[in-house]
Amino acid sequence: MIVLKFGGTSVGSSSAIRRVGSIIQERLERQPFVVVSAVGGVTDRLFELRDLCLEKQAWEDSFASLCGIHRTILEELELDVQLVDELLEELKGLLGELAAAGECTPRALDHLVSFGERMSSRLVAGHLQTLGIESCAVDAFDAGLVTDGRFQRARPLDDVNSRIQEACRSLTGVVVATGYIARDEEGNITTLGRGGSDYTASIFGAALGSEEIQIWTDVDGVMTADPRIVENARPLATLSFEEAAELAFYGARVIHPATMIPAVDQNIPIRVLNTHRPDFPGTLILADLAEDACGVKSITSKSHVSVVNVVAPRMLDQYGFLSRVADVFSRFEVVVDIIATSEVSIAFTTQGGGQLDSAIDGLKEFCRVDVYHDREQISVVGEDIRDRIGFASEVFDVLGELKVNVELISFGATRINLSFLVGEGQAADVVRGLHKRLFES
Ligand code: ADP
Ligand code: ASP
Ligand code: MG
Repeated sequence: MIVLKFGGTSVGSSSAIRRVGSIIQERLERQPFVVVSAVGGVTDRLFELRDLCLEKQAWEDSFASLCGIHRTILEELELDVQLVDELLEELKGLLGELAAAGECTPRALDHLVSFGERMSSRLVAGHLQTLGIESCAVDAFDAGLVTDGRFQRARPLDDVNSRIQEACRSLTGVVVATGYIARDEEGNITTLGRGGSDYTASIFGAALGSEEIQIWTDVDGVMTADPRIVENARPLATLSFEEAAELAFYGARVIHPATMIPAVDQNIPIRVLNTHRPDFPGTLILADLAEDACGVKSITSKSHVSVVNVVAPRMLDQYGFLSRVADVFSRFEVVVDIIATSEVSIAFTTQGGGQLDSAIDGLKEFCRVDVYHDREQISVVGEDIRDRIGFASEVFDVLGELKVNVELISFGATRINLSFLVGEGQAADVVRGLHKRLFES
């Protein structure tokens, strides 16, 4: 069997869902298990509805347009327009409660945003049925996807594979499961974090012994840079799991960073494909690459990066200081990214997450802390770049030409990543400049 995951734009309209229908139909002999994201833009809208409720503003119009989006698709697909009415009613009730309370707990937020995928899965399964394909929409939590209770960033329980195998045994036909959402052991709805449907696909792929996990999206695969930033970006034929994980973690939105974890465990290849060009081979992500597939692969960037500069009162000869700092970050679940040290200070970058402000307060108890926000981080990723003579100088040459000041650098910690920090608003130009030098000359 294979797992096919379709992202928001791939299920974003009736014509997109028809395309998805034919992609599935052409692969029926491979026993597809389908995972879908919410209709494009719907998750963002659900977050906006949360904000409206918190600000005690009217949410009814925005809710009505959400209903309209789904009903239009149902009509155009000639499905029962009331197919998701029960879910819309439940959503409306929840919004009413949130607005009345003027608050939304992390638990309520995951319940709220779960409606996107719960509705899209019904649209896609409904369409497959009209094509004469036996199909059922299943909420991932009813298919065994049980996580810990960390709302907005839940992770599957250790025994998730057997739970999924058990729950899926009785399902017949093409299953269309919800991406992104799950449930904890108490029965609360959880989510895997934004963009988490890719991760859902690989969790199911690993549990069900998929021969390949296919991530269907709106571009030709993982590319040399984000095509929205670099016009001449081109798709990559292959990537290693490690390269893909680094690219994803360092900002390439095309695949969720955790997607590689279950796939690596079972050594299942992942393929990133374009719904608009189903015959294009896309990018194949696997464990080991041929030697000639090494070298610079892609340039990514992310913004809103914070730098936390920690100055020890007396760093000289101090041991145990780094571990005290690391302990604070781990206590407040702050994901640390680049680390650089000098004799008297340590600088960390982070995109926040966890409770950064509380962590900073914790650090201030034993050292001086300076924080700078809104930096932009750029990463160049590729197997063995660390060992390429002249590679780093080429990168810094480009920065010099662009007259961009580098604030922090990390190189050599892995064989495959060079990362550095620049000021706000500079990343796009640097990515374009580097792309020109590394891929277009
Ligand atoms: P989906 O809704 O299918 O999950 P996403 O919007 O999450 O799609 O991811 C696809 C987008 O990722 C592309 O449209 C592209 O703009 C962006 N992207 C960022 N970096 C890369 C990259 N290196 N290669 C391909 N796409 C990238
Ligand atoms: N719908 C969710 C989001 O927009 C999950 C996903 O698309 O993967 O983040
Ligand atoms: Mg995505």
